[in-house]
Amino acid sequence: MDLKYVSTTCPYCGTGCGFNLVVRNGRVVDVAHWQRAPVNGGKLCPKGRYAHEFVNSPDRLTKPLIRKDGKFEEATWDEAYDLIAGKFRSYKPEEMACLSSARVSNEENYLMQKFARAVLKTPHIDHCARLCHASTVAGLAIVFGSGAMTNSIKDIGDANCIFIIGSNTFEQHPLIGRSIVRAKEKGAKVIYADPRYTATGKQADLYMPFVSGTDVAIFNGLMQEIIRNGWEDTEFIEKRTKDFEKLKEVVMKDDYSLENVSKVSGIPAESLKTAAEWIAKAEVATLIYSMGITQHTVGVDNVKSTANLMMLTGNMGKRGGGVNPLRGQNNVQGACDMGCLPNVYTGYQKVTEEAAQQKFASAWCCGIAEGRVGYTVTEMINVLADEPGKLKAMYIMGENPMLSDPDLTHVEHAIENLEFLVVQDIFMSETAEMADVVLPASCYAEKDGTQTNTERRVQRFRKAQEPPGEAKEDWKIICELAARMDMGDQFAFANPEEVFTEIAAVTPSYHGMSYARLDPDGLHWPCPTEDHPGTPILHTEKFATPDGLGIFSPIEWKPPAEIPDEEYPLVLTTGRILWHWHTGTMTRRSWDLEKEAPIGWIEINPGDAQDLGIKDGEVVKASTRRGSIEIPAKVTAEIKKGVTFIPFHYKEHPANALTNNALDPVAKIPEYKACAIKVEKITEA
Ligand code: SF4
Repeated sequence: MDLKYVSTTCPYCGTGCGFNLVVRNGRVVDVAHWQRAPVNGGKLCPKGRYAHEFVNSPDRLTKPLIRKDGKFEEATWDEAYDLIAGKFRSYKPEEMACLSSARVSNEENYLMQKFARAVLKTPHIDHCARLCHASTVAGLAIVFGSGAMTNSIKDIGDANCIFIIGSNTFEQHPLIGRSIVRAKEKGAKVIYADPRYTATGKQADLYMPFVSGTDVAIFNGLMQEIIRNGWEDTEFIEKRTKDFEKLKEVVMKDDYSLENVSKVSGIPAESLKTAAEWIAKAEVATLIYSMGITQHTVGVDNVKSTANLMMLTGNMGKRGGGVNPLRGQNNVQGACDMGCLPNVYTGYQKVTEEAAQQKFASAWCCGIAEGRVGYTVTEMINVLADEPGKLKAMYIMGENPMLSDPDLTHVEHAIENLEFLVVQDIFMSETAEMADVVLPASCYAEKDGTQTNTERRVQRFRKAQEPPGEAKEDWKIICELAARMDMGDQFAFANPEEVFTEIAAVTPSYHGMSYARLDPDGLHWPCPTEDHPGTPILHTEKFATPDGLGIFSPIEWKPPAEIPDEEYPLVLTTGRILWHWHTGTMTRRSWDLEKEAPIGWIEINPGDAQDLGIKDGEVVKASTRRGSIEIPAKVTAEIKKGVTFIPFHYKEHPANALTNNALDPVAKIPEYKACAIKVEKITEA
């Protein structure tokens, strides 16, 4: 028997834990702890522990499929490539769009944006970061000059106060929860603000339940209390920031007194006062957030507010401090770094700057897409739905908008308006079912590459088995398709390491990296030279803005796009759970995870349930202005009265049939975290 252990990185959340894949006779059969793993020291959450179970699922796609007369038929790779190349050649560049993926490697993301810009010559390239942390990338870049987590995961363990808002860290990033526990053991205070009393709330010293969508008011209230008491860090403000007076003008308004913020948010004034004092008086405090902050029509405002608070209290650029957005998917940071965004090339080099356009045209030895900002994911869907014929073809790699995007009826209508859709995936997803061509791809265990975790640490994926049947590594598919479109010279890579060498050459923050240097612990970007040790803490001396100063942003609170009314009297918020991952294509095929949570539910407070005559476990009708679903009710005091919650993993109970696709005007992120809903008892006819 041939048995080997292959060290690799987890395919689920952005924590970037390492583990060993156990390979017996060439087939992945188990996950084993890798004690030396740099982020998690061998520990794993359930998703990581069972990350082998979907790999050899009988549902894996194993052959290319072409739709003929409304049905899929198996095809050869040559037939599929010829059809795709012929179709892509028949469209104008601006009629085509590509979606890359936070699930695949940096190398594959790099190749996808290069394919879009250099082969199709379209500016329309984006990926699902648009739906999770687009507000972070935009908001922190405005304030600090860099849109990423400022400190490392390990660093959180050195904080004296941890303020968590809009992140259920212990369920969504469980191994980051370990750093919080380490800090608590050393005496740190933990403050948790969220409409749900989650596993994270149970670890908190101070829990502040609030009405979804009132974040800016909460931040302004905390800052007013700090300034009123003279607890701000005046030395830091004077030396490292600008526009403090402008911030003060807004936050000192009566609207943001503790009493008024308490009325808007539902948090008792006394709790807000305690939180302000703990954050301001801690020797070092850190702020952790996730999609509870970003997925709003005011997502960028929310993100800038987190930065305001941490600059006000002088908690930037030091160990144990910082603004720490926890990125959702395993490689969403990397997909952004690789330029799978419509406004930037790799390393956030702007597509609108002529020098950057010339740099990439010269590096790729070809003409590239014109230097204008393309459509975001959400704009692609809106253009398809509202302006038929403007976008005609899409190439989607490893994404499933038919379950993950808001307002699914609208999304379905949009995708139906495409003339030609190519989906590259490992399973027949809801989106793949609508494709003209489906290309069978490889999962994380079947290819080499790198991924960048939430703390900007670039680490290796390692191939443990061959893809099933005729499925291929994504990087190979893109290169072969480019060759079929007469661009083979620009995609002549023998392996992912050669792709990474090109990435390092064109990306300043990755310049000093190579596969050899990434072993064993990875490197945090920026890593500008071959002898640079990487940068676990950003902004220690100055910010990445042109003058090196952090910029305070005065922000007024605005309510969500849709607020409860007589017809739809409750608030709906959505999110993930411990056992499942996004649209469930992988975790729902992992038996040890699926058995823990096989069906969806809507959480509702006992007070609301009593008003509606609803019992725990009863199937109810949940409706918004976008649609209705029938779903079991979970009556629980762990959700605030007036608020409901639905996990978005379940195609049988699709939360996104209900969510609102109203967008943040800057980041174009939709408002998944707050819309108006009604819940009704289903009465027998
Ligand atoms: Fe994987 Fe995240 Fe769990 Fe770590 S915490 S094992 S990266 S899902």
